[in-house]
Amino acid sequence: MPKLSKQDTQIAKLIDLEAKRQKESLQMIASENHCSPAVREALGSVLTDKYAEGYPGKRYYGGNQYIDMVENICIDRAKKLFGVEHVNVQPHSGSPANAAVYVATCLPGETIMGLALPMGGHLTHGTKISFGGKFFNAVQYAVDEKTHLINYDTLAKMVLEHKPKLIWVGATAYPRFFDWKKLGEIADSVGAYLAADIAHIAGLVAGGAHPSPVPYVHIVTTTTHKTLRGPRGGMIMVTAKGLKKDAELPKKIDKAVFPGLQGGPHENAIAAIAVCLKEASAPAFKTYAKQIVKNAKTLAEELKKYGFILMSGGTDNHLMVIDLRNKNITGAEAQDLLESAGISANRNSIPYDPAGPFKPSGIRLGTPAITTRGMKEKEMKLIAGWIDEVISNPSKAKKIAQEVKKLCKKFPLPK
Ligand SMILES: *Cc1c(COP(=O)(O)O)cnc(C)c1O
Repeated sequence: MPKLSKQDTQIAKLIDLEAKRQKESLQMIASENHCSPAVREALGSVLTDKYAEGYPGKRYYGGNQYIDMVENICIDRAKKLFGVEHVNVQPHSGSPANAAVYVATCLPGETIMGLALPMGGHLTHGTKISFGGKFFNAVQYAVDEKTHLINYDTLAKMVLEHKPKLIWVGATAYPRFFDWKKLGEIADSVGAYLAADIAHIAGLVAGGAHPSPVPYVHIVTTTTHKTLRGPRGGMIMVTAKGLKKDAELPKKIDKAVFPGLQGGPHENAIAAIAVCLKEASAPAFKTYAKQIVKNAKTLAEELKKYGFILMSGGTDNHLMVIDLRNKNITGAEAQDLLESAGISANRNSIPYDPAGPFKPSGIRLGTPAITTRGMKEKEMKLIAGWIDEVISNPSKAKKIAQEVKKLCKKFPLPK
């Protein structure tokens, strides 16, 4: 960063330090990834200087001839990759994308349903402290206490009882596949809009490593920076089933994003999303997505050998939630300890967490970022060993951090 390091040494130095931290430690926060330098170049381009309120061909400002082409390419790539009818690529991130879905489909006070936050759901799916819970009558469903899976029979009964206008399915900490077909039938039983929030699993869906919700839901929302490996951003898609239910849905969603909730789109981010979608359409991305899951499965099995207890007993996707109660350590303590050993992870609630949401009993681990570095099953076994070692013997943290650093050197970040 030749310009920045001259002009603002304070910020340049901090960016360098963060780059070093990412380079020399394992990023195992399940929602994180390392995007390509090509994505970052588009993100850091002059497109950040341009106002483009509106949509391609219908802007409120002049000078958008190239911007229109960029946004159209982005939309076309997303439509093709996910097999959907309509895409809005303007949401600034995942939460604003979800906000737009509420605005497009519901009136304030109407009933919506979502998976509860402490059960692995997302804030925006109806938590009291978030807009979904504040402005709508949000009914929250749970996972089964024993299996930790969504109990579709219970959900079907709740849906019949509450007759929601909108049902959210998607999660930040749910290690299993969703049964999209069943969910589609449940939503149809009361004529509800069904929105799949695939923020975490978008890259797995794009790469064929997770069943796609597209045939069974009306709306799909996603972030672009998690398994999809793009810049921070969001998208809203309308499926063929969504169009059939409501031909006006694309228009309602576009209006909800702009002028409903946002002003000018971040066209630099949209260009970077287009680049990421091109990458995600290449054959190598399928290999990447499958390897994420192979790595997660290997890590989960290895951790079980060391006596770790996993939510639902394992994983189908890129993440796992570990119940640490038998290890006599809280989620927060484990997070700090792992950090000091060069493994970045986050504390997380486990289903029916007796310790409450502020001092959760678990941690969440994900493999998207370390798979981007090229790590495979062999490295997962090493990492599981280190996790066990440091949790059973905290004094080993420094030694493990050195070993992590050595491993990271062998698996450099994308160049
Ligand atoms: C990450 C996430 C979001 C929100 O994304 P932000 O970009 O952080 O606003 C929404 N839904 C789910 C399921 C997520 O995992």
